[in-house]
Amino acid sequence: MIFDIEHSGLSHINQVRGSASRTRSSIHYGLMPWLVVTLLFSALPVIAQDASGVRVIAFGAHPDDCDLRAGGLAAKYAKMGFKVKFVSLTNGDAGHQSMGGGQLAMRRRAEAQEAGRRIGIEYEVLDNHDGELLPTLLVREQIIRKIREWRADIVLAPRPNDYHPDHRYTGVLVQDAAFMVTVPNLVTDVPALRKNPVFLYFFDNFTRPQPFRPDIVVAIDDVYDKKIDMLDAHVSQVYEWLPWHDGLLAQVPKEPAARKRWLTSQQPDNVLPEWRPALEKYYGREAARIQHAEAFEITEYGSQPSEEVIRKLFPFFPTR
Ligand SMILES: [Zn+2]
Repeated sequence: MIFDIEHSGLSHINQVRGSASRTRSSIHYGLMPWLVVTLLFSALPVIAQDASGVRVIAFGAHPDDCDLRAGGLAAKYAKMGFKVKFVSLTNGDAGHQSMGGGQLAMRRRAEAQEAGRRIGIEYEVLDNHDGELLPTLLVREQIIRKIREWRADIVLAPRPNDYHPDHRYTGVLVQDAAFMVTVPNLVTDVPALRKNPVFLYFFDNFTRPQPFRPDIVVAIDDVYDKKIDMLDAHVSQVYEWLPWHDGLLAQVPKEPAARKRWLTSQQPDNVLPEWRPALEKYYGREAARIQHAEAFEITEYGSQPSEEVIRKLFPFFPTR
């Protein structure tokens, strides 16, 4: 099933597809998903790189960062058959209390790939050292290459103010790539994008120099279990390193189902009061029922989407 969002503008197309398929041969039926995608995206020549659907790439500093901030959003796109890729700029080789180096990097790469597999997205871990990320030209070029190769319509990254230097520099690096992805004379081994993607920040709670602004808030109740499933794959982090660092290691149950319940209890994904206006804007009366959401801020770099374009790039909202 490619489009199973009941309330999106696609539901009508879905109904058309359903009734048509009952009267046509299986060969025609096989073409219908392609036709639906084409119908949708031929209407979006200004925003999408091509007719294959919305293509999303997210950058985090560590293998689990994107999952925490956008795992639900990624699962929603994946459910619709759209392509999502998470990229960790470092290999995570410093994120543990009792192991490190290549052994830890290999473990975390395997965890990230399992996390991606569980929600149906790609996950790539770059081999830069954890705790040592700097906004160098080399890493900027790695990011430009990844965005172009993915033919991204949406690029997600942290804001450049955060407690962790790797997170800060991930924000700076993606900002630095935001215009350059369109410049053909740079990183000449991959063709430049003709359409600049929309660049979004993940949510954070830092307030200086300015607080996060929740421009787009997406309900993730329908995929919340999948998000937890994704986080559960990062065993070295969610059950070992992070609880150890926060003095909670003794609380973590040993048994897999019990520790997953514990993990769920630790998640701060409830809707914050300041996200409510955006939820109400996009979901109307349904907003009151939403329990879990993810919020994003539109950066000043890259394409500046109109509200109409936002509704097409995020085909999850009820029709007005
Ligand atoms: Zn991190």
